[in-house]
Amino acid sequence: MLGWLRPDMMAESAAQVPFRELAKRGVRGVIFDIDNTLVPHGFAADEAAVALAHEIKSLGVGVCLLSNNSEKRVAPFADALGAYFIAKAGKPGVGGYREACLLLGTTAQTTVFVGDQLFTDIWGAKRAGMYSILVKPIHPKEEIQIRLKRILERPILWWWGKHGAVGCAADGLTK
Ligand SMILES: [Mg+2]
Repeated sequence: MLGWLRPDMMAESAAQVPFRELAKRGVRGVIFDIDNTLVPHGFAADEAAVALAHEIKSLGVGVCLLSNNSEKRVAPFADALGAYFIAKAGKPGVGGYREACLLLGTTAQTTVFVGDQLFTDIWGAKRAGMYSILVKPIHPKEEIQIRLKRILERPILWWWGKHGAVGCAADGLTK
């Protein structure tokens, strides 16, 4: 059901994603959403986010941030992580995902996307032909429009969970 929206992997948090395994399988770039994926909504880059970006880069994998938020929000965050960035990305439009690959020097086949929202993050990644990883949102207090999307996400996630649809290993990455 809803295969066009289904993430290739689900993880408890960005830190739980098996980046080492993904790198072994040929992944050369990681694109991250920021808000509620790396930090609570609106928060500055913290030690954990900086350490995660550092760890990924040490695997020879590039990091790019892709956010619908403003450059004022995204640029300092990217600076702290030493990452590329695209602000006002227009997710779920595919343009930003493609631009991110250009910055990373990767293709959709060698890039994975990590984000917390099905209808923006994951849908866009799927449309861009990219391996997509859904993480649980960090912060429970969210803006009203995001809360409404959560209400729509819930039965879909429940259905996938019930039907064992989404793996937690990197087995799906065959591209
Ligand atoms: Mg988000």
